[in-house]
Amino acid sequence: MSTSTPVPASGPTLTERERHVVDAVPKQLLVGGSWVDAEGGATLDVVDPATGAVLCAVADASPADGRAALEAAASAQASFARTTPRARADILMRAYELLHERIEELALLMTLEMGKPVAEARGEIAYAAEFLRHFAGEALRIDGGFQTAPGGGARFLVTKQPVGPCLLITPWNFPMAMGTRKIGPAIAAGCTSVIKPAHQTPLSMLALGGILVEAGVPDGVVNVVTCTRANEVMEPLVRSGLARKLSFTGSTRVGKILLEQCAEKVLRTSMELGGNAPFIVFEDADLGEAVTGALAAKMRNMGEACTAANRIYVHESVIDEFGALLAERMAELTVGRGTEDGVTVGPLIDEAAQHKVSELVADAVSLGATVLTGGEPGAGAGYFYAPTVLTGVSRRARMADEEIFGPVAPLTAFSTEDEVIAAANDTPYGLVAYVYTNDLRRALRVGEAIETGMVGLNQGVVSNPAAPFGGVKESGLGREGGSVGIDEFLEVKYIGIAMG
Ligand code: NAP
Repeated sequence: MSTSTPVPASGPTLTERERHVVDAVPKQLLVGGSWVDAEGGATLDVVDPATGAVLCAVADASPADGRAALEAAASAQASFARTTPRARADILMRAYELLHERIEELALLMTLEMGKPVAEARGEIAYAAEFLRHFAGEALRIDGGFQTAPGGGARFLVTKQPVGPCLLITPWNFPMAMGTRKIGPAIAAGCTSVIKPAHQTPLSMLALGGILVEAGVPDGVVNVVTCTRANEVMEPLVRSGLARKLSFTGSTRVGKILLEQCAEKVLRTSMELGGNAPFIVFEDADLGEAVTGALAAKMRNMGEACTAANRIYVHESVIDEFGALLAERMAELTVGRGTEDGVTVGPLIDEAAQHKVSELVADAVSLGATVLTGGEPGAGAGYFYAPTVLTGVSRRARMADEEIFGPVAPLTAFSTEDEVIAAANDTPYGLVAYVYTNDLRRALRVGEAIETGMVGLNQGVVSNPAAPFGGVKESGLGREGGSVGIDEFLEVKYIGIAMG
């Protein structure tokens, strides 16, 4: 095993500024425009994954608290649907500005609860804010149609209306952006909502709730429910008949459970689920660009992204050079608590994640993979794992089928275009693929043949609020962002008009 990047043995306690940032966040549930305690004053602990230390406690909602939040959303729906698009756009723009005004505090808060380096957290706040600005524009562009019936005699008036109260469930890996990607279009469309963040990262969402209230969101339009009993709290809401839509970002496993629940009341659904992204480097690619792209596609968010390059296929003629270059760049990264200067790789979210990454690496090595750099978890209190490059990874390795969700880049050689397309598509997932080549025809051919909702062509990051984000196969249903993102929160209604 080669040298692994040193990782800290234990983290520092909170500085005065860190304590101030944590203290400033509301710790209660946002229900009907008021901050309220959970039933019985129940709380859940929020942990700093860099140290394992408890940062603070926030309300731990009961099923009754969830019900109260959804009732608040349902009673606010009719009046919110009547607000003007301009009024809704103004709220979103004000929230956009507030996110930028507080970007330093919000970034630090995110790093403390989630672990990503502050520079990346800052990037996420800007990305999250951009969804609000984007959908402020989309609110003004909700359109309809007017048409003569083909046989004459009648006219068709086509209009779009808000779907109704929404349940929004978000994961821990992008605690702010996954929220605004749903709340932005919901508000723009005129939908009220109950949002439930992941139990590991409630603080960013509570801070966003406070900002939305400040930005002028009417009472009951956005309700925030933090809880540890996700299923107990959310299932009755899904089945209640009060909600009209569920928008979920998280694992495919939980997405499937929720789809079944949604069937009972035939809820509209948007599902942003897991990925298993192939990253393909052809022999004609610019290798320097491909290495930089692989680093971005792999290491953004410490590899804890649905879009993370999970299987890196490199043409057999360049795999050794590519592997050496990537290993060199990975070994240069600095692992540590994300609040510290110069740190580029933070801890994983929890101990279970750290164990899973260790297991997947051990499995790949047992099937013949070679460790070019890294390959070990960090010692000490935080949940660190060294940036790792493996080469010669078997297609039978577990990591060829499962999301690694960690800083491990597995390289596998291929020889022909057909072979690599077949390998790339040999997965139930279909979120994103990355293709590096300088041959235009090949780029278009492979781009069309890959079964994913998104393709990064000579680029390692595809996320952009103005582009339609989403997957096919078991990676999901629907799209977030782009001009279609708001349609997920609108129903089309046709009014037939007799003319005779
Ligand atoms: P997860 O376990 O599916 O949890 C996601 C959210 O669902 C959390 O808020 C969780 O609450 C909640 N949840 C869990 N079980 C539930 C249930 N039975 N009913 C209702 N809610 C439930 O996923 P995760 O580990 O947080 O996130 C990682 C996954 O998200 C990965 O698979 C990743 O690929 C995917 N992801 C996809 C996208 C995309 O756009 N396609 C983006 C980011 C992440 P608790 O925290 O309380 O368990």
